[in-house]
Amino acid sequence: ISRNGHEPEFIQAVQEVAETVIPYIVQHDIYHGKNILLRMVEPERLISFRVAWIDDDGEIHVNRGYRVQMNSAIGPYKGGLRFHPTVNASVLKFLAFEQVFKNSLTTLPMGGGKGGSDFDPKGKSDDEIMRFCHAFMTELCRHIGPNTDIPAGDIGVGAREIGFLFGMYKKIRNEFTGVLTGKGRSWGGSLIRPEATGYGAVYFADSMLKTQNETFEGKNVVISGSGNVAQYAAEKVLQLGGKVLTLSDSGGYIHDKDGIDTEKLAYVMDLKNNKRGRISEYADKYPSAEYHKGETPWKVACDIALPCATQNELDGDDAAALIKNGCIAVAEGANMPSTPEAIHAFHDAKILFAPGKASNAGGVATSGLEMSQNSLRISWTREEVDNRLKGIMSDIHDSCLEYGDEDGYCNYVKGANIAGFVKVADAMLAQGVI
Ligand code: NDP
Repeated sequence: ISRNGHEPEFIQAVQEVAETVIPYIVQHDIYHGKNILLRMVEPERLISFRVAWIDDDGEIHVNRGYRVQMNSAIGPYKGGLRFHPTVNASVLKFLAFEQVFKNSLTTLPMGGGKGGSDFDPKGKSDDEIMRFCHAFMTELCRHIGPNTDIPAGDIGVGAREIGFLFGMYKKIRNEFTGVLTGKGRSWGGSLIRPEATGYGAVYFADSMLKTQNETFEGKNVVISGSGNVAQYAAEKVLQLGGKVLTLSDSGGYIHDKDGIDTEKLAYVMDLKNNKRGRISEYADKYPSAEYHKGETPWKVACDIALPCATQNELDGDDAAALIKNGCIAVAEGANMPSTPEAIHAFHDAKILFAPGKASNAGGVATSGLEMSQNSLRISWTREEVDNRLKGIMSDIHDSCLEYGDEDGYCNYVKGANIAGFVKVADAMLAQGVI
């Protein structure tokens, strides 16, 4: 804390892990006295750089770019790039730290990293986005590579941005390799990668529900966000027979009492991905929906909640409202959307709660599958990738059950933290003090 006290998001993520992992370390001689967690919280490398670019009016702007290379004990660094004005070293260190545990849980050989910029893509033209991405990659390309560090998308970085970033990497390095994941289908991308995080979160929630002999069939589901993760979480909920009541963006949320069906979801996908519009426009189009400006959707009564927007979007009061309204399961699609108070409330109420590092690991797992296909220079079918994704989410769920049992109640936070920790810690111990 003395070294990182000015980084609240990073401290929050580390404290959540420490609460569950330190007791485990103390009970196991092989980890005790090795300062293993102290080594894990210090990034192997943190790169910060200037990104200068020119807008459509000829004005020069300067943003700050980052790459946090957190831990490479079990594989090359792997984790997304985020373009959002709130990006800073604290946010990226929290995300990179979480990524280490998440990637370990996937059972694939991937270390943890995260990067991005305080650049705001909102309101920028395609040409401005391209110039920014090219300028960003001009520096980032020195630090990444298919066997070193393989970035992907995150908030504000989707297929369009990955294309511009890949193009500049290829031009500078004169090589066509799997250096980024989330690529387009015709140039190395994997089927199911766009869907993977949202689908994976719902597969994980489904596994949790099955432990209580429940399913999604007929359940009311509240989802936040309306980006990549939220859209495909909604799609999978509909396929499993659930009813999606809400979606949101940073302006507010929409509540459709009739449910957001497949046709309405297609409208949202077009609105968000092609027209880059606001979720408020949904309520103009569909009279069954109400728009709540500046609010999050957690007061809407539901059986299952899937927070899929951003960090700290669901606090203690929101958790209390969900519990009071009879919610039985919460699975995080976003990274750290629930505050520590909210998580404690879910545990106290003994409802099913999946932390993002377990339930949203399907995205990076499928990125790992994209890397494998790139290395083999082959392309698996949709069914093959989806089946592997299902298998990985089921394995992660089993790992959580193995390490998270508390007298018949599964503490998935504890389970995910310890299962993720053990693999990385064992590799670090084997490699010595480096
Ligand atoms: P997108 O950029 O596609 O969508 C993000 C969504 O969250 C948008 O609806 C956005 O609204 C909303 N949002 C962003 N910031 C805020 C905020 N401060 N307050 C309220 N709403 C906000 O990103 P993704 O869907 O890819 O990512 C969502 C979450 O999932 C993030 O936490 C990300 O780290 C996590 N994640 C994503 C993975 C992936 O594969 N994409 C993998 C694992 C985790 P608006 O349009 O108004 O900005």
